[in-house]
Amino acid sequence: MNQGVLQTYREHLPISSSTPMISLGEGDTPLVRSHRMAAELGLENLYFKLEGCNPTGSFKDRGMVMAVANALERQSRTIICASTGNTSASAAAYGAHCNLSTVVLVPKGNVARGKIAQAIAYGAHILLINGSFDRALAIVRELSERHPIALVNSVNPYRIEGQKTAAFEISDALGDAPDYLCIPVGNAGNITAYWKGFKEYHELEATTHTPQMFGFQAEGAAPIVRGEIVESPETIATAIRIGNPASWRSAVEARDESGGLIDAVTDEEILAAYKLLARLEGIFCEPASAASVAGLIKSVGNGLIPRDKTVVCILTGTGLKDPDLANQIADIPLRELSAESDEVERVILSL
Ligand SMILES: *Cc1c(COP(=O)(O)O)cnc(C)c1O
Repeated sequence: MNQGVLQTYREHLPISSSTPMISLGEGDTPLVRSHRMAAELGLENLYFKLEGCNPTGSFKDRGMVMAVANALERQSRTIICASTGNTSASAAAYGAHCNLSTVVLVPKGNVARGKIAQAIAYGAHILLINGSFDRALAIVRELSERHPIALVNSVNPYRIEGQKTAAFEISDALGDAPDYLCIPVGNAGNITAYWKGFKEYHELEATTHTPQMFGFQAEGAAPIVRGEIVESPETIATAIRIGNPASWRSAVEARDESGGLIDAVTDEEILAAYKLLARLEGIFCEPASAASVAGLIKSVGNGLIPRDKTVVCILTGTGLKDPDLANQIADIPLRELSAESDEVERVILSL
């Protein structure tokens, strides 16, 4: 049975005797060896970490369980977050599980439908903000300072602690750290968390080395790559549509300490990777997740990732959250037939 990340990685987390050991079964996600894409790219050892298999469909659950456990420990009754969708889905789920009131601020018009559906189903208070994610985050930061409301965005260090457990899982599964880690970068909490996890495992001598961290932003939302705040970030990958990452500095540290890279990929490259993952591997992730694979393809192409190394791409969330997008790019017509076996047979034989 999956006992959840708090129990499994207890000794590596800020857990005391009064921390409630809550779990929705987060963590322990599959690390899947690439089948066809590795062959196409000429890579010997490529793996995908399927974070979409977490209880609410994204890696946010790893950090949320730790942040909510801490909020309970401090006797908070309300949690709040700004969200491009997945944080609100996760906060709402753990809030419901623990009988907390959950308030989510969502930038209007830029969140995938499935994610809002989750927040509604879990019973969160949803406030649509006429402004960007960055603005919504500024508001929740201010309010959580003025009121006894626990902020559960990744500026909360407990989120980072929970999320670092994915680095432990990958290292345990491979028997060592990978050589390269490819990961999408939005608010930059996750790249920060992975780097912390890999460093801690290495210090404990659970691994022989740390990976080079390759982070990827979307071209229209690439403040770290450009070295300046992007006022109006634009990308189809809404989960990384962020112009002023809260963990900017620690993302740059992860890049520099690991000898890695933070680069940009275009929406076209993201969509191509999104489609390839589904068609070549049978893995349906969300567009933001595909940025890691778009970045891998780019980095193998320009020689920055050698073909004989072990590479792990983090697929941060499931594609089911944004079904409209899959419908938009589908180039397979849906054919309507009569309910006659002759007609169906004729069509099948002509495929
Ligand atoms: C939150 C999120 C990201 C970005 O992670 P950061 O920690 O903000 O960099 C990427 N993909 C998905 C699916 C997400 O939910």
